[in-house]
Amino acid sequence: MAKVCVFCGGTPLTKEHVLPRWLKVALDPTVDRVRYIRLSRDGVQHHDAPPLNDQVKVVCSECNSGWMNQLEENVRKVLPDLIRGKRCTLDTEAQRALASWSLKTMLMFQHTHRREVRAAIPSSDFSTFHQLRQPTRSMLGRLGFMNYPPDDSVPLVDTLCQGYRTAELGGVAWIGTLKIGCMLVQIIRAPDVADGYELTPYEALPSLRSMWPSDAPIEWPLPAAIPHELMMALAVPEGLDVRVTPV
Ligand SMILES: [Zn+2]
Repeated sequence: MAKVCVFCGGTPLTKEHVLPRWLKVALDPTVDRVRYIRLSRDGVQHHDAPPLNDQVKVVCSECNSGWMNQLEENVRKVLPDLIRGKRCTLDTEAQRALASWSLKTMLMFQHTHRREVRAAIPSSDFSTFHQLRQPTRSMLGRLGFMNYPPDDSVPLVDTLCQGYRTAELGGVAWIGTLKIGCMLVQIIRAPDVADGYELTPYEALPSLRSMWPSDAPIEWPLPAAIPHELMMALAVPEGLDVRVTPV
């Protein structure tokens, strides 16, 4: 476990809930276990655990109670509706807030791994996030819709992070996926995009919308649901399907 804050290098370290306790209001009380699946280049690990219990001790009190807490506050209104599939509209600001919260949560989940399987997200991505407090221009974010799990056959919370071998891509690349209830968020980290170029945003689909960059408001729930059987194909595709275009 890190001895200094993974974001700013400060001390002392405090415990941070990977998923906030207040999410309890959005989760079905009859489903008391969630499945966490973690992937890395080196293999698959998974375990079942009660929801909202995961804590990590890798951030300092200043980060935890300051800007990280602010990112939580920014999504507090929309997250329960997204998770339960209740009607709401996400304007571009809400999409930006959701993308930033998603990235923070994925970075924290990374530290629930044992050190050996933590390789997917490099420490430089943590310090960049500390500076920007939002995803970078080398990232794309998507929001997808799934039906609320009818029973324990489908995990309530599912999280995956896959790193990509980067020799041919020329840099860092990973895909983080987090599903809570009906909400599926993805951050796709492409190798650094050169000046004068930008990542081409993903096309809007009936069950998946671009939230980073965001352009149009998103009406929730989306018109189509992603079947849970497609989770792995979405979270761990064969390769990184990103294109860059001149600005
Ligand atoms: Zn810190």
